[in-house]
Amino acid sequence: PAKNRIVGSLLNKTLPPRAREILVNLGKVGDRLDLPVYAVGGFVRDLLLGSENRDVDVTVEGDGILFAETFAAEFGCRVKSHEKFGTAVLVFPDGHKIDVASTRLEYYVSPGALPTVERSSLRMDLYRRDFTVNTLAIQLNAASFGLLIDFFGAYRDLHDGVIRVLHNLSFVEDPTRVFRAIRFEQRLHFRIARHTENLIKNAVKMDFLEKLGGRRLLAELVQILKEKEPLSAVWRLESLGLLRFIHPALEASPPSHDLMEEARDVISWFELLFLERRYERWVVYFLALCDSLSSEAFEGACARLALNVHFQEKLKEMRRSAEERMANMEKRLSQQGRLENNEIYYFFKGLSVEVLLYRMAKSGNPELKRCISLYFTKLDSVRTSIDGTDLQRIGVPPGPRYREILDAVLSAKLNGVVFSKEEEIALAKSYLR
Ligand code: ATP
Repeated sequence: PAKNRIVGSLLNKTLPPRAREILVNLGKVGDRLDLPVYAVGGFVRDLLLGSENRDVDVTVEGDGILFAETFAAEFGCRVKSHEKFGTAVLVFPDGHKIDVASTRLEYYVSPGALPTVERSSLRMDLYRRDFTVNTLAIQLNAASFGLLIDFFGAYRDLHDGVIRVLHNLSFVEDPTRVFRAIRFEQRLHFRIARHTENLIKNAVKMDFLEKLGGRRLLAELVQILKEKEPLSAVWRLESLGLLRFIHPALEASPPSHDLMEEARDVISWFELLFLERRYERWVVYFLALCDSLSSEAFEGACARLALNVHFQEKLKEMRRSAEERMANMEKRLSQQGRLENNEIYYFFKGLSVEVLLYRMAKSGNPELKRCISLYFTKLDSVRTSIDGTDLQRIGVPPGPRYREILDAVLSAKLNGVVFSKEEEIALAKSYLR
């Protein structure tokens, strides 16, 4: 009863009214179809922890697709159903989505009788989940709206901050849970239960993770690297001996903590400065994580993770090219002391944001860092005001001269020698003579 009072008040007070209204409506549709309906999993976990989670997962004891279609018809949602899995996605007019699942079908064949189809209970369904903290359900039907259902001691584990599997074969059944355990542990500032940690160690020893497909391993790694604060999870991967499943060389030459921390700082600097800019943060961490690897080993890691071939090639090439350019740049810097803006521009042009941020984190040379920062903040976006048509108009004969002149004008603009379009045209004309 005490738990239910807490859930009731959380549903009333912390949920935005619109979210609560949707839950109530889900319950009403369940009532009409005479189906028990529950909010389950991460949503309930986060509700109890007081953190926002807009992803509501709903489980229906019965035909979830019928449920979703009825709900959609009444509330103007679109439905995407997967008959085979008994699941559906409700898409609201504002784009918000709710996943609906049915407790799974079980087929029983009793001797001498026709096969009967029954639905497994909610309990069986929740038992298939990864950790106790993800097994909570809240009933949504009107008569018991807000009733907390806790089969596996999840409330206690949430209270104590413990990540615990439901049974001993959990990691054998699905080795990705090893990574999920670490991700939740670090995100929620929980602790993996001792027995669960022993099961992880056992899975590592027995090489269960060797069998994990590249794409699934990648998905888990990416999810970890996309967390707000991924470093503690990375060090947990390291101390549990899990990095070797990405590449064995990561055990012999482990990632540098200093570099990873620098990467984190560079990332927060960049995100503060360029709120809108789209880039893949996890790639910066991935490059930093693999910094100690030779080209061959890096290639091996990319292949192990089954990265998209095109992306793999691009990443390898950028990593190599950045290395070369940085070396050249260091040399120029030591010869000249400082570089002109146009030199900086052409050194970095064509390198991705991710590779540049990684190099920025890696470089111990403050002047080089300043150059990369200047490139991001100013140089990268500089364009000439004139283009080919302007050159045509002033009588430049068609040919490779166009590119040369436009590059020269861009360099002058980068270096602050020309500002206005008139000045650019005057400069272009001077090349004609
Ligand atoms: P997040 O906030 O990271 O999205 P979540 O708990 O919503 O956390 P999802 O990955 O969206 O996590 O998974 C939804 C639910 O499905 C989880 O609560 C979990 O119980 C279950 N689940 C996901 N992956 C597994 C797995 N590998 N084994 C068992 N259950 C899983």
